[in-house]
Amino acid sequence: MIRYPIPWPDGARCAVAITFDMDADSLIHIARPEDGFDRLYPVSMGRYGPTVAIPRILATYRRLGIRQSFFIPGWCLETYPDAIEAILGDGHEIGHHGWIHEDPVTTRGPSQTEAFEKALDAHRRICGGLPRGYRAPVYNVTQQVIDLAIGHGLRYDSSLMADDIPYRMTTAEGALWEMPVHWATDDWPPFAHYAEIGYMMPVRGPSAGLAGFWEEFEAQYEAGGFFMLIVHPFLTGRLARWRLVERWLEETMATRKVWVARLEDIADHLDALAARGHRIRTERLPHYEGPQG
Ligand SMILES: [Zn+2]
Repeated sequence: MIRYPIPWPDGARCAVAITFDMDADSLIHIARPEDGFDRLYPVSMGRYGPTVAIPRILATYRRLGIRQSFFIPGWCLETYPDAIEAILGDGHEIGHHGWIHEDPVTTRGPSQTEAFEKALDAHRRICGGLPRGYRAPVYNVTQQVIDLAIGHGLRYDSSLMADDIPYRMTTAEGALWEMPVHWATDDWPPFAHYAEIGYMMPVRGPSAGLAGFWEEFEAQYEAGGFFMLIVHPFLTGRLARWRLVERWLEETMATRKVWVARLEDIADHLDALAARGHRIRTERLPHYEGPQG
């Protein structure tokens, strides 16, 4: 089912990562720069993430003895120091997620370089070093950003969709690993409802909204693949939803052969496999030199 499967450590059948994008209220400030600060309902919806959901999520991970990856805009690193300290204190990874959730497709050229490097600076000051990975806000990565990530020594991106399992991505600047995402394992479609940023969908019930994720896991598990959730503390970290994710994690870790890992650990594993000559699929950028058709 998977053409070039990746052998996982300790005989695990599937790698599992529950990755949280802690956007908090950056979303309303970037969407409504003039008055976002005084739109208290969306500000409060976002603040729920670092203040209420993150302690809950970290308690689960601590109890289960796992470490995971979080992607956090630089502005949020500065704004929510308690959440950041708790995440890092428990040994989790924090990846680059833009400065204030600016969309790379609408922030091209010098302003993108400035935003990318401003976020890196926040990582250095607050997290004590450079991030290992990058995930583009709304997945909208451009080649400029991939090249910035490679140029600054980041080891992986997690914004693209060209395969079911991690793959290599090369450009003229170098290479990194891609930890592929997909909307099928993202909580925005089932759970987000956000008029201010033009997203109005019926919110699904917790088990109905999560059901598709678990079907994705079963297919990946059967194929010996890679199962990653891309979720948000203010959505999936809410009480009823997290209760179900926590139960799923407990049961899956108890009954299946899974490797629950940070994405940086998966990058280490891929480096080791590549060094031993294991075949891993590669995509080369750019796909196109300019407009087509
Ligand atoms: Zn985000």
